[in-house]
Amino acid sequence: MKKLALHWKIIIGMVLGIIFGFIMNGIDGGKGFVADWIAPFGTIFINLLKLIAVPLILASLIKGISDLKDISKIKSMGLRTISIYIFTTLVAIVIGLGIVNTVRPGVGMPQDTIEKIKAKYENDAGVVDKLAKASAQKDAGPLQALVDIFPSNIFQSFAEASMLQVIFFAMFVGICLLLIPEEKAKPLINFFDSLNEVVMKMVDLIMLFAPYAVFALLANVIIAFDDVEILIKLLYYAGCVVGGLVIMIGFYMLLVSIYAKKSPLWFLQQISPAQLLAFSTSSSAATLPVTMERVEEHIGVDKEVSGFVLPVGATVNMDGTSLYQGIAAVFIMQVIWPEGLTFSNQLVIVLTALLASIGSAAVPSAGMVMLVIVLESIGFPAELLPIGLALIFAVDRPLDMCRTVVNVTGDATVSVLVAKSLDKLHEPHVKNWDDNLKK
Ligand code: ASP
Repeated sequence: MKKLALHWKIIIGMVLGIIFGFIMNGIDGGKGFVADWIAPFGTIFINLLKLIAVPLILASLIKGISDLKDISKIKSMGLRTISIYIFTTLVAIVIGLGIVNTVRPGVGMPQDTIEKIKAKYENDAGVVDKLAKASAQKDAGPLQALVDIFPSNIFQSFAEASMLQVIFFAMFVGICLLLIPEEKAKPLINFFDSLNEVVMKMVDLIMLFAPYAVFALLANVIIAFDDVEILIKLLYYAGCVVGGLVIMIGFYMLLVSIYAKKSPLWFLQQISPAQLLAFSTSSSAATLPVTMERVEEHIGVDKEVSGFVLPVGATVNMDGTSLYQGIAAVFIMQVIWPEGLTFSNQLVIVLTALLASIGSAAVPSAGMVMLVIVLESIGFPAELLPIGLALIFAVDRPLDMCRTVVNVTGDATVSVLVAKSLDKLHEPHVKNWDDNLKK
């Protein structure tokens, strides 16, 4: 077991967690046992990852920027990052819409299936909760997202882990460190340099616990599955989403090999622990420390690039989510609102799914909340919204797990592309996981 690569240990943990979840699902009192005695270990793991996210972004970005020596590079890094993010998100939505319009998974769904799903999930607490969250989100003004980037109290930003605010603060500090005399800047730079080392080591240690944590996380996901019949009815739709996500990964691989001249398989292998955690946690935010560690130490992206591109990406770049939103919106229309399936509505979906994925929080099922806003933007009848969400609710968690993998892979890919374009992609200094622990 010791010699096994980390990703294999995690995969074994996941498989055993799934098997254990199914066994417990069938045993009297099994679900309660998993919820009380197993799931908390998954929560502890996610808490630990969240714990180090803010110090990691701060240290990585401040240290990285203060190493830059050239402020103009920051502007070009920012512009490149945002443009590539928008580009990959648009590609994802177009892939999603292409698939759902070709396969048409919602056309011809039997009425009794629709009624069954409606009866089961229309008033489900999960659906009601998503609708309530969406309406709260909608009430904000048009420039609120911009205002939210600028913190008034940085400790509050730390406490709430508001990524964009922490990034803004870190960049501000980093830039000012470049503008003051070197001897004054040195102590603070050294401080953040050692903080960065400490947090990176924390990631290594926390990851020792990952194979056990994913066991707990997946067992907990499995005990929530109850209606296999409905799951099977939604297999077509789920297949479209998963197929689209796989194509998207292929697209990233192409970018990595053509532009960054790196082997796509090598890239996938290096990033795989982050992907597996994205799958197990359904949260790009919780996965962020691991994504940063993998990209910096195992792929060779410079800190100032990864420290900016990855946290920004975890917040605004969600290709998997936008692809899913395109497919889910059209699928729901195919089933219950076919008159809405016009070309112009699909164009509106391209735009709103782009904005919605930017606005989605990097936490489980956030994409479904923003889907409500996508649907509303095309005039989807309000009274049909609960039924629409009910239709996709049963398979949302597994799809969330898959789309989060793509969200994280997309961020990592873009960090490699941006680093390459700025000549900030080097040979990684840690070749494998065990070397990292021996240091
Ligand atoms: N769970 C996704 C993430 O954290 C967001 C979503 O699509 O729900 O990236």
